[in-house]
Amino acid sequence: PVELRGVEKRYGEGERAVTALRGVSLRFVRGTMTAVMGPSGSGKSTLLHCAAGMERPTRGSVLVDGVALGDLSEDALTVLRRERIGFVFQSFNLVSALTAAQNVELPLRLAGRRARPGEVVAALERFGLGGRAGHRPSELSGGQQQRVALARAVITRPAVLFADEPTGALDTHTSRGVLRLLRELVDVHEQTIVMVTHDPAAAAYADRVVLLADGLPVSELPGSDGAEAIAARMAGLEESTAG
Ligand code: ATP
Ligand code: MG
Repeated sequence: PVELRGVEKRYGEGERAVTALRGVSLRFVRGTMTAVMGPSGSGKSTLLHCAAGMERPTRGSVLVDGVALGDLSEDALTVLRRERIGFVFQSFNLVSALTAAQNVELPLRLAGRRARPGEVVAALERFGLGGRAGHRPSELSGGQQQRVALARAVITRPAVLFADEPTGALDTHTSRGVLRLLRELVDVHEQTIVMVTHDPAAAAYADRVVLLADGLPVSELPGSDGAEAIAARMAGLEESTAG
């Protein structure tokens, strides 16, 4: 239900201008999980921010269920994002003054809803954080904060979930648990997930792996090819784009 058409994104002016995306066209189909990989600086986060309507493309358009985000007013865009889109930030972006439970409940409140009794704790428990509901982000480890961010992003059951390195701070075992949960959201609830990752083992959970280099998708393979094939393709890409 999300489509990018010729999305270009430039930052800055003059000598400091950077073109982060150079005309990206991609479709993320409902009930599928896509992994986006690529070297640091290749535009992965920018791609997610544009697709989620958090940044406006310099050129091209993003459509969510056929609605062009660029045609929406700021208010309409905010409503669409609150109701349909979840986002896990590379740097978590938890609200430091709020507890884990309050952070997780936040998207419901912003959408004018209230959590059902036990709903927030259940969401935390699914990510192995049952005992941390009353802790503030500064009292949590990096991996725990990342899982609070995940619980917060899925509490509204968004049609589309964008996740920027959702397992970047997690150990292998915890990471697998999270990826299985994400897979379940896709397979059982038909949610759509687009996740950025550096980890070929994580990408192998996706239906489709898109490799980005210098602001453009350059290669694609099915996640079912497995971590080794994905790692090999990545290595080939890094070699061909080095220097
Ligand atoms: P990483 O793997 O390191 O997270 P990435 O693939 O997510 O990298 P982006 O964060 O999308 O890369 O950045 C792509 C390019 O755009 C980089 O060259 C970066 O310097 C530039 N860029 C990103 N955000 C901004 C911004 N807000 N202002 C200026 N330049 C930016
Ligand atoms: Mg990034």
